[in-house]
Amino acid sequence: KEWCRLMPKIELHAHLNGSIRDSTLLELAKVLGEKGVIVFDDVKDVIMKCGRSLPECFQLFDLYHILATDHETVSRITKETIEDFAAENVVYLELRTTPKNNQAKGMTKRSYMKAVIDGLRDVDTVDVSFISSDILINHTSEKKKRIFVRLLLSIDRRETTEAAMETVDLAVEMKDLGVVGIDLSGNPIVGEWKTFLPALMYAKDKGLPITLHCGEVPNPEEIQAMLDICPERLGHACFLQDEEWQRVKSSRIPVEICLTSNLQTERLTSIDYHHFDDLYKAKHPVVICTDDRGLFSTTLSNEYYLAASTFGLAKGQMIELARSAIDFVFADDGVKKNIRELFEASERAY
Ligand code: 5GP
Repeated sequence: KEWCRLMPKIELHAHLNGSIRDSTLLELAKVLGEKGVIVFDDVKDVIMKCGRSLPECFQLFDLYHILATDHETVSRITKETIEDFAAENVVYLELRTTPKNNQAKGMTKRSYMKAVIDGLRDVDTVDVSFISSDILINHTSEKKKRIFVRLLLSIDRRETTEAAMETVDLAVEMKDLGVVGIDLSGNPIVGEWKTFLPALMYAKDKGLPITLHCGEVPNPEEIQAMLDICPERLGHACFLQDEEWQRVKSSRIPVEICLTSNLQTERLTSIDYHHFDDLYKAKHPVVICTDDRGLFSTTLSNEYYLAASTFGLAKGQMIELARSAIDFVFADDGVKKNIRELFEASERAY
C-alpha cells in the first residue's frame, strides 16, 4: 500500500463536490443545522453512511450543493481537494466541476468559477501550477510538493441546451485560467442526448476536448451517439456491448476507470469482472481515477492498490500504468513535459 501512496500519480476523473472531506461536510452541516436550514442529525447519518446506490448518490449531491453553496465554501473545498490529492503524490490533477447559478447567494456560473480559481490561489501548503506549463504559482520552497492542476467544466444532464452552451462559453473564456475541456455528467437516467449535443459540438468547434460519462446505465442508443462524436476520453463505460467495445478499442479512446465508485454504486456484481481487466490485457489506454473521493471514502492511492491486488499487477506495472496517463491529459505539451520530469525525478528518489 505504501508504494501506491509514494508513486507519482495522475488524476483525470475527480468531481469537486464529490471530493469534499467528510469533516468539512459535517462542519458545514453543523452551521446550517444551527441556522435551522437543515436537521443536523439526519444529515449526519446520510453523510456517514457507507455504500450507496447510484440514485442515493445523486440525492446526496443535492445535499452537498446545499451545504457547499456560497463562494467562500466553494473556494475552501477547492483548496482542500488540491491539498488532499497533492498529499498522496498526485502530480497532475484534472478537476471537474459544474458551474452553478444560485440567485439566492448572488452566484452565477462565472462567479462560481471565480471562487474555484480563488481556492486554487489560496493553496499554500503545496506548490500549485494551474496556468502556465512551468511557472509554479505560490512557489515558495523547493521542499514542498508540486501539483499541476487543470479544470474541466461539467455540463449537468439536468441542464437545458442554453445552460450547457453558457458553460461552454465560460470554458472558452477561461482557457487562460486553466480550463482545458468539457465533461458531461449528472444522473444518467435524466436528460436526453439531443439536449447536450449542440453544446458538445460547439465545444469541439472551439477546440475544447471532451470527456463523457458513458454507459453508466444500459442505454445502447446513447452510447452509440456518444461514440459518434469521437470524444477524447470516456468515463466509466460499464454497460458497453461487444460491438461498442470494438468501436472504443479501434479508436483507442482512453477510458477513465473508477473501481470503488463502480462497485459501491452496484454497476457490477464483483470487481473481478470489471472491464479494467480486459482493457488492460488488451493494452487499451486506461487511467485509474477516484470519481468522488469524499463520497466513496477513497483515495487515488487506494484505487491503485485495489487494481494491483485485484488484477495481480506488480509495482513496475502500476508505475508504468500511472505514467501512461500523461498521454491522455488535456493540458498542453509543455505541461506533459513537466509531468514527465516530475515522474522521473520521483522515480530516482525512491
Ligand atoms: P460538482 O460538479 O458539483 O463539483 O460535483 C458533483 C457533481 O458531479 C454531481 O452533482 C454529478 O452531476 C456529477 N457526478 C459525480 N459523480 C458522478 C458519477 O459517478 N456519475 C455521474 N454521471 N455524475 C457524477
